[in-house]
Amino acid sequence: MFSVPVHAANPGPFTGTGNWTYVIPGAAPVLIDAGVGKPEHLSALAEAMPNGPAVVIVTHAHSDHASGAPALLERWPAAVFRKIAWPERDVSAVPWQALADGDVIETAEGPLEVIHTPGHAPDHVVLWHAASRTIFGADLMQLGNTVFIPAAHGGDLAAYLRSLKRVRALSPLRVLPAHGPAIEDPVGLIDHYLSHRQQRETQVLTALEAGAATVETITARIYIGLIDTLAPLAQENVLAHLVKLETDGLVRRTTEGWKSIE
Ligand SMILES: [Zn+2]
Repeated sequence: MFSVPVHAANPGPFTGTGNWTYVIPGAAPVLIDAGVGKPEHLSALAEAMPNGPAVVIVTHAHSDHASGAPALLERWPAAVFRKIAWPERDVSAVPWQALADGDVIETAEGPLEVIHTPGHAPDHVVLWHAASRTIFGADLMQLGNTVFIPAAHGGDLAAYLRSLKRVRALSPLRVLPAHGPAIEDPVGLIDHYLSHRQQRETQVLTALEAGAATVETITARIYIGLIDTLAPLAQENVLAHLVKLETDGLVRRTTEGWKSIE
């Protein structure tokens, strides 16, 4: 599978070193993710595909993946922009065309299959190149880090775990993520993620049984020594676990806070 990684030139506190977007060149080039519209990114894209993209697939509506779409549209008005709709978050200045699980995107390297992988975001997709067992993984996984599940903003931990298992079942050999280097042992990383989440779930239940009843107190018990700026992210992860455990029938919300069900 030949693709050209093109950096979106957007390092920052929430994107780490920034985002990778991917170009599959050819007569009708395909671009995966739009970046944030930085001029350096547009120049690098023009180098990888002088006539611009025929199709832009946006993997989800988070701003580091989607907010560059209007700038791309202005520069290459003939490009078709596709994503799964997330009406509250989608940039309205772009005439989005629908995308759905199972859709096939034709490229010079052969077909890419769209796999809807909600969890990190409700509209999140990855793209599967079966011939090389390669996945363009967007924010499904990242080397050296777990993936943020923003439970109060469209994140869903139970859906995320299902998405990981669905991708694992494909036995991918390589994942090209939006953040960080290529992942050469994606099944191993998925197994690590699944056991990590299981461990966190146990920690949340233990904290509840010890009397912690709010997201803040549970987070403080689990994430010892967490720096203040990261607390909101950790709290959303804890909330994601609580919502999943509530769905599983293991915890409930009461007027005094969260309680485990004996
Ligand atoms: Zn994201």
